[in-house]
Amino acid sequence: MTIVHHPSEATLIAHAAGNMDAASATVIAIHADMCPRCRGDLVLAEVIGGQLLAGLAPAALAPDALSRALGRLGAVPDDTTAAEPNSQVRSRLGFDLPAALRGYGIGRWRWLAPGIRFVPVLRRSSRAGLDDRPRAQSALHLFKIAPGTAMPGHRHGGSEFTCVLAGSYDDATGRFAAGDFAETAEDLEHRPVADSRTGCICVIASEAKLRFRGPIARLLQPVLGF
Ligand SMILES: [Zn+2]
Repeated sequence: MTIVHHPSEATLIAHAAGNMDAASATVIAIHADMCPRCRGDLVLAEVIGGQLLAGLAPAALAPDALSRALGRLGAVPDDTTAAEPNSQVRSRLGFDLPAALRGYGIGRWRWLAPGIRFVPVLRRSSRAGLDDRPRAQSALHLFKIAPGTAMPGHRHGGSEFTCVLAGSYDDATGRFAAGDFAETAEDLEHRPVADSRTGCICVIASEAKLRFRGPIARLLQPVLGF
């Protein structure tokens, strides 16, 4: 596997600092699992971040921060709680689920449009962080695009992280194959097309709802919640 596209340095540093929502962090973890270069950069960023933290003055947390942190531990996906064997997931989805997704309880592919299927993994939401500041939670979806199929053209209302798990796709910014990471800026309008031979399976964390261009896609949008 030759990986060409990696997360930006700013994204890797934000991830190492724990400053990412669960969906975005999961997509970065999946890429890092496949990319020795980014794994090394993350270790370095964590070491540097640890040194910086050690030099900071303590800051006050919300009074109920500890109980909220403990309450959330049960919601964190954990490999050890995945009751379903990997072979079963593989036969249902048609590919090996990355380790970072195994604790989520992944369902079946659902139909979205001709040649496009998806699995919702995490819903978009907003909740208070431990310091009481609101934190946005990106939505997390798996997508399977049939060979030669184009996703409807769309714009983004926020950032979007994509990691290709199998096959590849092309858009105006380049070709993205297994392991590649795409970091989509808010103002990019694109229309990814899956490889004509292999199709494409990818995992996408999207901060805001996509804004589709075609009338059919726009009609589907409120129903599907993308
Ligand atoms: Zn990388």
